[in-house]
Amino acid sequence: MYCPVCFNDTLKIASSGVVKLLFNGKAKSTSQFFYNLSQDKDEELLQKIEDVVKDYFIYYSGFQNKDPIENIDAYSIDFKCENKCVININHKVNVIGLLFSQDELNEIVERLAKKYNIPIDLKDLKR
Ligand SMILES: [Zn+2]
Repeated sequence: MYCPVCFNDTLKIASSGVVKLLFNGKAKSTSQFFYNLSQDKDEELLQKIEDVVKDYFIYYSGFQNKDPIENIDAYSIDFKCENKCVININHKVNVIGLLFSQDELNEIVERLAKKYNIPIDLKDLKR
């Protein structure tokens, strides 16, 4: 992967870290989960994402005026560059397609949106 600092193909995700989710650019303090690649099975990772999406949708379902959810970002700063670049909060590295696929995320989001009556208009669903 390309490093956002030195732009070389030298970036690797850390074996454990934190993934944060953003819904239309917003999040709760609980909109994050820990991953550990040496322990988590695929379905455990997906369950963690599902728990975060569910938590946010339950919160969002209480809003009077709900803008459709158009963008969901999943990012981490737990990356290491072979050139020892410092990756910090200014470099939100996307983990969709890395820890889980866009299709897996979409499936969770669509299912829970229906369940909790959340309007969605995901750009990534329009192919
Ligand atoms: Zn670098």
